[in-house]
Amino acid sequence: MSAKTFPLTKPELEELTRSYPTPFYLYDEGAIRQNAERIIRAFSRFPAFKKYFAVKALPNPFILKILAREGFGADCSSYPELILADMAGMKGEDVMFTSNETPLREYEAARDLGVIINLDDFTHIDFIEKHIGIPEIISCRYNPGPLKEGNAIIGKPEEAKYGFTREQLFRGFCLLRDRGAKRFALHTMVASNELNPEYHIETARLLFELAAAIKKETGISLEFVNLGGGVGIPYRPEQEALDYEYLAGGIQRAYEEIVVPAGLDPLGIRTEWGRVVTGPYGWLVARAIHRKSIYREYIGLDASMADLMRPALYGAYHHITVAGKEGLPPTETYDVVGGLCENNDKFAIQRKLPKMDPGDLVIIHDAGAHGRAMGFNYNGKLRCGELLLRPDKSVVMIRRAERLDDYLATLDTAALGNFPVS
Ligand SMILES: *Cc1c(COP(=O)(O)O)cnc(C)c1O
Repeated sequence: MSAKTFPLTKPELEELTRSYPTPFYLYDEGAIRQNAERIIRAFSRFPAFKKYFAVKALPNPFILKILAREGFGADCSSYPELILADMAGMKGEDVMFTSNETPLREYEAARDLGVIINLDDFTHIDFIEKHIGIPEIISCRYNPGPLKEGNAIIGKPEEAKYGFTREQLFRGFCLLRDRGAKRFALHTMVASNELNPEYHIETARLLFELAAAIKKETGISLEFVNLGGGVGIPYRPEQEALDYEYLAGGIQRAYEEIVVPAGLDPLGIRTEWGRVVTGPYGWLVARAIHRKSIYREYIGLDASMADLMRPALYGAYHHITVAGKEGLPPTETYDVVGGLCENNDKFAIQRKLPKMDPGDLVIIHDAGAHGRAMGFNYNGKLRCGELLLRPDKSVVMIRRAERLDDYLATLDTAALGNFPVS
């Protein structure tokens, strides 16, 4: 069981909405920091552990600054994400650049910032040599193909567009060494939102065995392996959170069985978790503005899938509570919906909830990762802002809500006035 809590009482939340009208995201800094510390404690058993936060999960530099303070680096996949990490003080080898189909200008930016480049394909070795030069430290992304089962969100590795095959990896590391690289790393990312620790332990085992085979066949000793992201969170109250100590213990056993005998100790262990770092500590807060009764009962919110796309995109479950009605029995069945002209704009379908009324404050849980980040402007929807609850209970706005002028900012309205249409 995972308790679905919210850090403010209903009167506190009502008070907050007087300064910041709904909808908005709220993140709990204290809870994020405590979680970050639990992760670091569990993995401190490894001689060279380092964690990168997957910026795409919550691309806000205030959050990144907090995580940097906790000792996290950043995993970036684009130029703007590199800039966000840089703004938060995450620099050089504290940043990993894992992109795919990477444009040249993004490789140039990665080189200029001195971050660790993680190549997605064998042909990129020639590409970077020609355009930016082979860096001293380089990582390659492995796609295990049929050797590893996939999971629901990310799909089967053999159908995934990412990474090198095993054979390409051996050739690739040799080529990189021959062309001047001095330090090498191996990366994979094969799961998303996976709660089973055995799956992640098996991924570590796979990388350790590969690192041992690379050493045996090429003589190259890897500096670190990056286990990627993909650790799940219990979106449903009946699910259990993954136990970091158990996971780290399982990875440690694989390390002792494979890495130590291969003569690779100390091998760096790195992760680039996103969801599990911030996901449970963020909420989308919206207000019920309409109740509609047709063939089903609907509760209409002032937020839409433009603010939180996961339910519509993946059929994902997000727990919903109503401020001040947490203890009431779930006597009603509602579709809780947003205002997009898309019938899949539903935060919950046929959900059992207490009786709701327009004006109720609706709390959508586990929205601290891949939430606001996936927002969009379809239907002219303006994305909501982000608030941070600090450990002293003060609230800071860390991103304002979009306004009409943001939406229009990419249009040249002067040119429109002079645009001849006959
Ligand atoms: C998405 C992604 C992550 C983070 O995944 P989570 O599920 O949020 O942990 C890490 N690395 C890469 C390469 C990714 O694409």
